[in-house]
Amino acid sequence: MTSFKPHSATLAVRAGLEDDTQYGAVVPPLHFSSTFAFAGFGQPRAHDYSRSGNPTRDLLANALIDLEGGQAATVTATGMAAITTVLQLLKPGDRLLAPADCYGGTWRLLDALHQRGAFELEWVDFYSDDDWRNKLESGAAMVWLESPSNPLLRITDIRAVVEQARASGALVVVDNTFMSPALQNPIALGADLVVHSTTKYINGHSDVVGGAVISADKERGQQLAWWANCLGVTASAFDCWQTLRGLRTLDVRMQRHLENTTLLVEMLEGHAAVEHIYYPGLPSHPQHALAERQQRGFGAVISFELEGGETAVRSFLDGLEFVSLAESLGGVETLIAHPATMTHAAMSADAQRRAGIRSGLLRLSVGLEDGRDLVRDLGRALVRAKASTSKVSRHAVA
Ligand SMILES: *Cc1c(COP(=O)(O)O)cnc(C)c1O
Repeated sequence: MTSFKPHSATLAVRAGLEDDTQYGAVVPPLHFSSTFAFAGFGQPRAHDYSRSGNPTRDLLANALIDLEGGQAATVTATGMAAITTVLQLLKPGDRLLAPADCYGGTWRLLDALHQRGAFELEWVDFYSDDDWRNKLESGAAMVWLESPSNPLLRITDIRAVVEQARASGALVVVDNTFMSPALQNPIALGADLVVHSTTKYINGHSDVVGGAVISADKERGQQLAWWANCLGVTASAFDCWQTLRGLRTLDVRMQRHLENTTLLVEMLEGHAAVEHIYYPGLPSHPQHALAERQQRGFGAVISFELEGGETAVRSFLDGLEFVSLAESLGGVETLIAHPATMTHAAMSADAQRRAGIRSGLLRLSVGLEDGRDLVRDLGRALVRAKASTSKVSRHAVA
């Protein structure tokens, strides 16, 4: 039989299938056992205790290695647990460069650990060539990247940062949650580590919180697995099983996510109630060309600023019927969040300002509903938003 390298959709669908040697179950069984018997005295098997290793968790880890093109993966209980594990590679005095507009929870963790002296921390503007190049030139142990960024969907040139980081001896970590392995593979761009909140697109059904770190290098992967076991942050077997089930449809979900997003971007663009739209797929996005080169799609998150700030936001949100006001993203259902008071509330006011998060800003995670219904629903709510602000301004004049 000729052997060929299958595409990622095939790898995801087939991950762990026919793994069961006892019954030949097509879908892999779920191994709940916390402990595993030795074959005999001095004869450990592949697994001994589920915190350090579990067969169901291994299946998910292997699938993520395949999809991200890595050498090793550690699957953790949450995305933040994956980030916590990676940060163990830093010691006091090491310098970490991180995006000033990173995920709110990451911002809070980095800030808190830095304040306790776990490492030196410098917030960087990765959209200004001068800023990141200068800061990297003065030395760093690790560079943290998120591309596209949250919530303004700015794009970082991963390859360019990797090149200079190599020269400075810094590790490059990319949080790839917003793209998922279906749309971007940072290891192929030279990154050392890829972090995921599998809570988002990888599981895709908003019913598991989980995380993973995939390593380009086997030895570093083992170091991270050691830390995850040591810290006790590895994921439960049930969560892994469910996440693996979600992962099987990642590719086909992403296609529909992208189709619906295109419809909504067309509707939002140029709408009278919308002051600004942030989406890397728009030619007007400052890094459109970079996104086109670096990604295999522009993603299914749209951020937009409503005319009329919080007043408009309130009446817009009240007018939505098929969209839930909730944090998170990447699920089958369309979600909307108000970053200033929700996802990024952990950031100081100053950090929010620096990250460009204003009161009229909304972040939409486009789901898998019929796109025509989403267009109608959001269109109706925008009309309400527009009406609410014109009423306010009439009051203000009177
Ligand atoms: C959600 C998220 C995280 C944190 O993941 P949890 O699973 O919520 O712990 C980290 N980074 C990004 C970009 C995220 O969206």
